[in-house]
Amino acid sequence: MREHPDDLRAFVRRLPKTETHLHLEGALPYELLQRLDATKFAAPPASWAPDFRFGSFAEFDQLIIGLLSPWFVSAARYHEAAAVVFRRLAEQNVRYVEISFHLPIVEFIADRGEAILQAILEAAPPGLTVRVFAGLVRDCYAGPMPAVIADALRWRWLAGFDLHGHEALPLEDWTVDVWRRARAAGKEMKAHAGEFGGAANVRLAVERLGVRRVQHGVRAVDDPAVVALLAREGVTLDITPISNVKLGVVSSLRAHPLRHLLAAGVRCTISTDDPLIFGNTLTDEYEGLANEAGFSGAELVQLARNGFEVGTMPEPVRTAALAELAGMERPG
Ligand SMILES: [Zn+2]
Repeated sequence: MREHPDDLRAFVRRLPKTETHLHLEGALPYELLQRLDATKFAAPPASWAPDFRFGSFAEFDQLIIGLLSPWFVSAARYHEAAAVVFRRLAEQNVRYVEISFHLPIVEFIADRGEAILQAILEAAPPGLTVRVFAGLVRDCYAGPMPAVIADALRWRWLAGFDLHGHEALPLEDWTVDVWRRARAAGKEMKAHAGEFGGAANVRLAVERLGVRRVQHGVRAVDDPAVVALLAREGVTLDITPISNVKLGVVSSLRAHPLRHLLAAGVRCTISTDDPLIFGNTLTDEYEGLANEAGFSGAELVQLARNGFEVGTMPEPVRTAALAELAGMERPG
């Protein structure tokens, strides 16, 4: 798609959009940190520069922990951050968001996990459907967490769980059990896989955890049998192109396997992952695909449509967005 930049921006702005791979801690608006400590947080991290590349996941981890830990000390702080994040999404014509928070944080703050969930949900503005997921990490099943997780299975307004963290760690048996019980309770279950881990991790997420929503999943392209499995089982990959480039999962947007996956019949959506670290917006993601990877207007419409097809929004929200998208196959 080669449009005048203003035309492209207007087109992307008009697209009704979804964000289905977003971490609330990783979406903390930088100005909130600046308000906390104007000296320490005088300038955004170097990783906001478009050409920035992380040397390792450990480098990313260290940066994000240093930025988010001063802020996320209470449910009230979650509410405050979520209100700004949601307002910005609504301004970009995002209608539906799936956002996760790091449930093991309850080990370090006084508020309970259900209070954090409520605080986030209460920040949703009119016109934006919000679904909140509890993020867990592969090795978190210790101390108070088994009881916290058992409790969370009963939180009515919790959309589901999302498995985060280092993919190099093994998939532990408790995860399989919790994911099975939560699915049986009607929760939408997700897992991060196929980012730094290989295609085998994506297969494990689908076959052992039973998820139909994989966050990232891009390394599935290394094994055609896994790509075929994703297409056959109707698995959706919630892909974050700019994050993938900056973390070195792919070398560039042009080299991103997104188009290959779509052509193979795998449903993919587009999201921002951790905008606090990457300095990206959802608009940047769509514009980047158009400008750097040659995505057409029709392809951008399809990506937006995929989010509305897979999300668990009220039917009138879905129907209205899909009708608008049907009229936008190409820019004006
Ligand atoms: Zn993620």
